[in-house]
Amino acid sequence: MRIDLHVHTSISSPCSLIEPEGVIRTATEIGLDGVCITEHDEIKGAEVMSALGRKHGFPVFRGIETYTELGDMLVYGLYQDPPNWKTPFEELLAMCRETGAVIIPAHPCRVTGELERLHGWERAKYMLGNVAAIETHNGGCSPDGNRAALELGRRYGLPGIGGSDAHHLFQLGRCLTVFGEEVTSDEELVRALKAGRYRGVYPDEFHCTRSNPGPLETA
Ligand SMILES: [Zn+2]
Ligand SMILES: [Zn+2]
Repeated sequence: MRIDLHVHTSISSPCSLIEPEGVIRTATEIGLDGVCITEHDEIKGAEVMSALGRKHGFPVFRGIETYTELGDMLVYGLYQDPPNWKTPFEELLAMCRETGAVIIPAHPCRVTGELERLHGWERAKYMLGNVAAIETHNGGCSPDGNRAALELGRRYGLPGIGGSDAHHLFQLGRCLTVFGEEVTSDEELVRALKAGRYRGVYPDEFHCTRSNPGPLETA
């Protein structure tokens, strides 16, 4: 199952030009089996899109992208707004433990090597010890940034997800996640993300019609 796990829309992300109906139309056209809406610090966009997905019979999952002092985090299974802008990582982790949500660092190496250099080895190790996976394929990252994320995931034994980080429709599906199982609800998505049977890919590795930024070997 091919799901783009990182999508912004104009509902909650002022930085996005993506209209809600366009997401479902384009996702269907390019061969995605589902999308997950991850607005910045607000669940509303995901809620609106989830309802629209039900109306059209297209799987739309709910996520959120939130800022922490350890970088942007994608969160799946938390259906409320984070308490404040730049939530401390520990606070986000406590919320996620309470609700059973999972945290996945978004574009952890947008600048190559950023994570451990910026936050220090101990903090990086602590954070990576408390996440389900990392985003190894982010549509807004350079191939080098994604390659560094893949390497980081290998070193810490973490699986990788892929998401387009689309802010425009033409960017939808430029990275995606391939799951080895059917995912039909938000609860199943969270369970699947915990189980680790998936990988981030570029679309041409998986029969999707979007073009990608360049070749990259995957695990
Ligand atoms: Zn981000
Ligand atoms: Zn994003």
